[in-house]
Amino acid sequence: MSQSMRVCVIGAGPAGMSTLYHFAKLPKMQEVVCYEKQDTWGGLWNFTWRTGVDQYGEPCHSGMYKRLLTNGPKECLEFTDYTFNEHFGKDIGTSFPRREVVLDFMAGRWTNKAGRDLKRLIKFSTVVRSVVYTEKTESFTVIVNDLKTGTISSEQFTHVVIAGGIFNQPNAPAFPGIECFDGRVVHSHDFKDGLEFKNQDVLLIGSSFSAEDIALHIMSSGGKSVIVSWQTNAPNHNWPNGITEKCSVRNFKGQTVQFTDGSSAAVDSIILCTGYKALFPFLEGRLRIEEKTSFYQSQLYKGSLFIPLAQSKLFFIGAQEQLFTVTLIDCIAAWTARFIMGLLPNEPKTTKEMQNYGDYWHGRAKQLKSIPEIAAFQASLIENLAGDTKYGMEYVQAVSLFVEWDKDRKAAIAHFREHKFASFLSK
Ligand code: NAP
Repeated sequence: MSQSMRVCVIGAGPAGMSTLYHFAKLPKMQEVVCYEKQDTWGGLWNFTWRTGVDQYGEPCHSGMYKRLLTNGPKECLEFTDYTFNEHFGKDIGTSFPRREVVLDFMAGRWTNKAGRDLKRLIKFSTVVRSVVYTEKTESFTVIVNDLKTGTISSEQFTHVVIAGGIFNQPNAPAFPGIECFDGRVVHSHDFKDGLEFKNQDVLLIGSSFSAEDIALHIMSSGGKSVIVSWQTNAPNHNWPNGITEKCSVRNFKGQTVQFTDGSSAAVDSIILCTGYKALFPFLEGRLRIEEKTSFYQSQLYKGSLFIPLAQSKLFFIGAQEQLFTVTLIDCIAAWTARFIMGLLPNEPKTTKEMQNYGDYWHGRAKQLKSIPEIAAFQASLIENLAGDTKYGMEYVQAVSLFVEWDKDRKAAIAHFREHKFASFLSK
């Protein structure tokens, strides 16, 4: 292993922090520098009242809203080396805590368990403008901009870990006539509070996690009605009064939305709950992964290592759609830190072997249809990674919690958060 190894981590959200955490846990640590454009850690778990751009004119990263509660049970979010009970010194009662509670918990692990001051590795308020790879030197040139001083500098790194996640660049498809819609049009990334839509009839386009959460928020904040428009499959949720499901949007005229089944409705506002794109505009094009988000990107080995280029020195953490959220990310980060440090005896593989691996997991991911299938898939991915890292396997037990949770959601989407799950990690 080269003594001059220098690792760049981009982003200090859960993915970047897990990466720093696992580097810090290893017996010998090389130079690691993390760039974070916000002035604090936590990534999308930070709420901002701003929309569009931040105080420096940079795109707001986080799509967090004011009163977000987790949509998955917190018992599926804890770590084998750090639980909610350990952090708070007691059982906090609910399985679906507020955003601040989750951030506090994660920050507790980063602060109390890493064994060193991770904040010292992070350059806050610093945005990465470009990452370019040079084959000749097998190194990356990273252009960074200190937002407070305006300084722009060029840094050299042997390895780059992209940890900004895939939930910050809105996927905002256009629909015929939407540009002339007589009302407000916004993406769920910029949704802050259901109160903004009080007394309104609102159309949500998309029917996944953001749509269901926002529909419930709007109705509990005095909204008049919400239509959830699905594209591929009707969610068939047991919605509370005021929320209905409709098929795809055909077009808009004035305030009227017309659906593909020929029906129509007048609405005051439209919220695009159409998800996100895995865009990394600061990366030179040949270093980018597929824009379309998925449960496994075929260009990645072990959910992290970029196979096509850069001699196994470029990594993406948190590039998968989520169910096992921070836990899968943490396991991938543990693998990545050990790989970079040359601690995995069976690695590296040949490009062909790595591509076979990427194709295999991507192929499996494409078949996933239900929550139990997704949970089992991600658990088997954790199992596969853990084989290399001796990573704690206990939370593969979370699969059975996700199965229970799925049943609760199907029974009554407005009430699934009333279920209190038992932690299988807390003593
Ligand atoms: P998502 O899960 O990727 O869902 C995107 C939705 O948009 C899908 O219903 C998709 O339909 C639809 N869609 C995409 N393109 C469309 C088009 N051209 N026309 C119509 N519909 C279109 O995105 P998300 O719901 O924003 O969730 C993103 C992540 O945030 C998830 O990990 C979720 O768990 C998380 N989240 C968490 C909370 C919470 O913790 N409380 C709340 C919200 C979100 P098809 O499936 O048919 O393509």
